[in-house]
Amino acid sequence: MTDTKPAPIPFLDLKAQQARIAVDLRRRIDAVLAHCQFVMGPEVAELEAALAKFCGAAHCVGVSSGTDALQIALMAEGIGRGDAVFLPAFTYTATAEVPLVLGATPVFVDVHPRTFQMDPAHLEQRIADVRAAGILKPRAIIGVDLFGQPADWPALSAIAAREGLFTLDDLAQSFGGSLHGKMLGTQADATATSFFPSKPLGAYGDGGALFTESAERAAIFRSLRTHGEGTTRYEVLRTGMNGRLDSIQAAVLLAKLAVFPEELAAREKIAAYYDSRLGNAVMTPLRVPNSTSAWAIYAILLKDGADRDAVQAALRDDGVPTAIYYPRPLHRQPAYRDAHDGAALPVSEDLATRILALPLHPDLDDVAVARICDAVLKAVG
Ligand SMILES: *Cc1c(COP(=O)(O)O)cnc(C)c1O
Repeated sequence: MTDTKPAPIPFLDLKAQQARIAVDLRRRIDAVLAHCQFVMGPEVAELEAALAKFCGAAHCVGVSSGTDALQIALMAEGIGRGDAVFLPAFTYTATAEVPLVLGATPVFVDVHPRTFQMDPAHLEQRIADVRAAGILKPRAIIGVDLFGQPADWPALSAIAAREGLFTLDDLAQSFGGSLHGKMLGTQADATATSFFPSKPLGAYGDGGALFTESAERAAIFRSLRTHGEGTTRYEVLRTGMNGRLDSIQAAVLLAKLAVFPEELAAREKIAAYYDSRLGNAVMTPLRVPNSTSAWAIYAILLKDGADRDAVQAALRDDGVPTAIYYPRPLHRQPAYRDAHDGAALPVSEDLATRILALPLHPDLDDVAVARICDAVLKAVG
């Protein structure tokens, strides 16, 4: 008999999720096909109300993507040329791209070696660096809730208050996470999230949302997402963008939001199992105190000197897919190198060489999770 290998485990299984919610999904999409208001239809307002309630935010504004949500939030503050925007070096590219698109300068901050979240002490140092150089004006902090866990918002907010800076929460990976018993979405002056299909709450295309406690800010966000319109469509108050949300995406998100709490619980159960089986062989992610994670990404750190390529290849051979978030910190990216002032960011650089993400999604069953752990222990052993 030949050695038949078990089928590969999917890194993400959107088909299994679709089968679970098929009836509600079909009903909601059919409703959009019936009314034909494809952009900013009634589903968008319904979704905004449901999302605001879910995370306890006063206002939610649905937009076209997480990137556009970040951009609208910075545009509303008038951030642009000559302004410094502080953000972690270890995050997805969009966080740094948006200030640059607006003519502002990203100032990269290092992260904590075990939670991967922005390091508040280094943030203070970086603000002091920028003030001492006297070229850029410190304006904003983008705190990223990386991989599902919250950034250290109590510390970031205290620094922002002391320094007079605007805070923007990049919640693209962590919608559904919480800090000190409160769902994320209200920690900063404005919060931006993404509904890209692979995020914990994902649409069937691009989508995003903004949250804020300020009615005034929410009104500006609504105006900016529709070309800066005023009270009538053809009154243009400010330079905006086309940042609207599709009705079909809102319909899909409403169907998914209904099962989101149980999916978050399933994700946490898998993460806890990984922690217990893998904690001695690799560095499992350190939990941010008093928080829950949305577990967008479960990332382990291999021991010093481990050959990550070999570990990945061995896992692939056992049908276990892995991914690297992120193989390069942003200050090392060709597009952003010139914007970087040269400050050392050693933790971000080290993480990029050792980090490895394992599959984690709500349709991963116990057998698959055990198989992944067996394969990891064998590959690093
Ligand atoms: C996905 C992501 C974004 C961008 O969201 P899109 O909806 O893809 O535009 C921004 N920031 C972070 C941290 C992300 O992971």
